Amino acid sequence: MIGIDLNGKTALVMGVANARSLGWAIAQKLLEAGARVGFSYQGERLKSELEKLTGGHSGTWIQQADATSEDDLSALFAKVKEEFGQLDYLVHSIGFAPREAMEGRFLDTTPQDWNTAMSVSAYTLVSIARHAEPLLREGSSIVSLTYHASQQVVPKYNVMGVAKAALEASTRYLASELGAAGVRVNCISAGPMRTIAARSIPGFGSMYDKAAAAAPLGRNATAEEVGKLALFLLSDLGSGITGEVVYVDAGAHIMTMKLD
Ligand code: NAP
Repeated sequence: MIGIDLNGKTALVMGVANARSLGWAIAQKLLEAGARVGFSYQGERLKSELEKLTGGHSGTWIQQADATSEDDLSALFAKVKEEFGQLDYLVHSIGFAPREAMEGRFLDTTPQDWNTAMSVSAYTLVSIARHAEPLLREGSSIVSLTYHASQQVVPKYNVMGVAKAALEASTRYLASELGAAGVRVNCISAGPMRTIAARSIPGFGSMYDKAAAAAPLGRNATAEEVGKLALFLLSDLGSGITGEVVYVDAGAHIMTMKLD
C-alpha cells in the first residue's frame, strides 16, 4: 500500500493489451490510490481482455481509439470530458514497429517502416497531448514509456530506438510549452519486461537475461516498479519534475560491462 491519496483525481491510460502491459501496472497503482481511470484500446480484439481487467474496479470505463486516428482521438477526449469533465493524469503506453524492421539491418529500414514506427511510437504523444490540452488543469501530468535504445545501440531495436529518441525529444518540447499551464510531461525509461510488445523484438529473451546480469541490482526491474515510478511522476510527489527521462531498470543503463 502506497500512502498517497488520489481520490477525486482522474486518469486516462492508453495502451493496455493484457495483465502484463506496463500500462496496466501503472493503472493498478492509480486505482489503488483512489483515482478514477478511463482506458483506451486500439482494436476490438482487446476489448474483452480490458473488460475482464477493469471489471472489478468501480468508476472505470473503456473506449476504442487508434492513437493514429484524429477522429478516434476526438471521440476519446469527448468521452473523457463527458465522464470526468477534466483530466489530471495521462498515460501514453503505446509503441509499435513492424517486425521486419527489427529483423534486418537498420541500414535497410524502409520509408514505410520508418514512418509507421515514428507515427505510432512518437507522434501519437504529440497528438494525444494536443487533444488533451483543453482538459488538463494546473498540476496535471503526462507520462510515456521509453527505452534506453534511444541513447545507445541495442542490437535489433533499430528504428524503434530512433522512434524512442523522438519520443524523448518530444517530451522535452511538450514540457516546455505546457509548463506555463502547470502541466508536466515526463518519460519513464523501463528496462526489459516480458510483455506482448517485447515479444516482437528479435532476441528479446537473451537481451532480458543480459540486462539482468549487467544490472547493479543483479536483476531486471519489475512492472510493479514501473507503476510505482509512474505514480510518483504523475502525482504531486513529482511536482518539480518535467521534461525528464527517469530510468527504472535496476541500474542496467549505467553499466558498460560487468566483470565476473
Ligand atoms: P504491450 O502490453 O503490448 O502494450 C503496447 C500497447 O500499445 C498495446 O496495447 C498496443 O495495442 C498499443 N498500440 C500499438 N499501436 C497502437 C495504436 N496505433 N493505437 C493505440 N494503441 C496502440 O507492451 P508494453 O511493453 O506494455 O508497451 C508499453 C510501452 O512500454 C511501449 O511504448 C513500449 O515501447 C514501452 N517499453 C516497453 C518495454 C518492455 O521491455 N516491455 C521496455 C521499455 C519501454 P495492440 O496490442 O492492439 O497493438
